Amino acid sequence: MKIKKKINTWIFDLDNTLYSADSGIFQQVHKLMGKFIAENLNMDLPDAKKLQTKYYKQHGTTLRGLMDNHGVDPDFFLNEVHKLNYSIVGPNEGLNTELKQLEGRKLIYTNANKQHVIDVLDRINLTNFFDEIFDIKLANYIPKPEIEPYKQIINLYDIDPSTSAMFDDIAKNLVPAKKVGFTSVWIDAGYENFSDDIEASKEYLDFQTRDLSLFLKDVNEGKI
Ligand SMILES: [Mg+2]
Repeated sequence: MKIKKKINTWIFDLDNTLYSADSGIFQQVHKLMGKFIAENLNMDLPDAKKLQTKYYKQHGTTLRGLMDNHGVDPDFFLNEVHKLNYSIVGPNEGLNTELKQLEGRKLIYTNANKQHVIDVLDRINLTNFFDEIFDIKLANYIPKPEIEPYKQIINLYDIDPSTSAMFDDIAKNLVPAKKVGFTSVWIDAGYENFSDDIEASKEYLDFQTRDLSLFLKDVNEGKI
């Protein structure tokens, strides 16, 4: 069956899915995380950056590593690392046009916090467009790709997985999506550093695209 007929719940990741990886926002968050660790754990910056990467790899998010190993307050951390200059993020009207043609509920599912979502949606002209925002706080700070928050979303919003599609730029985040029964769509942003993750996730990816707006155009035109 064509996706548009089958799907009535559309679940989108935010960063690098609904706006471009090239915007520089990630680099800003990355930098602020390093700074946060250096200041709060009294380390020099190179060591702080090493720890940041280590926790990201071992715990799924740097935050989880900081919570588990150092008792860092998650809301304090999230506030500090999202003190961003959002002026470099702008709307993609082509994408917005396609999003607005999708019928059914639209949700955001992010490992970031809600204020970051609100700030970005404002910049990309999608304020109040989404029905729900499921952020890391609602997920009890358990990040994708752990499967618990996926199950939580299904219960919380009374979702039928068989009529739901999830979009994410990180392939391994779609493994649990597929396992709980969502249709999975990978936005290939060209990350070479994560090729192992991508290889291991391949069989869980129903669709992949390099451009979400072109993919949704095909969906809206009934081509896929
Ligand atoms: Mg993302």
